[in-house]
Amino acid sequence: MSDTIFGKIIRKEIPAEIVYEDELSLAFKDVNPQAPTHILVIPKKPIPQLDTATSEDRDLLGHLLLTARKVAQQVGLQNGYRVVINNGNDGGQTVYHLHLHILGDRQMRWPPG
Ligand code: 5GP
Repeated sequence: MSDTIFGKIIRKEIPAEIVYEDELSLAFKDVNPQAPTHILVIPKKPIPQLDTATSEDRDLLGHLLLTARKVAQQVGLQNGYRVVINNGNDGGQTVYHLHLHILGDRQMRWPPG
């Protein structure tokens, strides 16, 4: 499976502002934030995108959502926040290591761009 910039962040080969880590996941600040708070939650397992996750990843996918909730609480997003997964080209995915965006501290709009 091909490596990505997020693989280098997991292995601590390049720096990131890590806000949470456990045995299965890592959360760090997005380098190009689209909201005052913009954090990425990633699995340590290098799943390229939602489309390539399998039923074997069921528990891990649930863990990522619960991690997103935990991180949102940790950073004080008590007024709400948005969780986004961009999948593939039309979804706007640029890094092919599955990640959840947590966006907060501003009013989100709908529909997204
Ligand atoms: P995508 O477009 O794939 O859904 O999201 C990838 C995200 O990763 C983008 O928001 C981008 O700013 C972020 N990103 C890309 N490279 C780096 C990096 O080296 N460090 C950090 N912290 N974020 C990155």
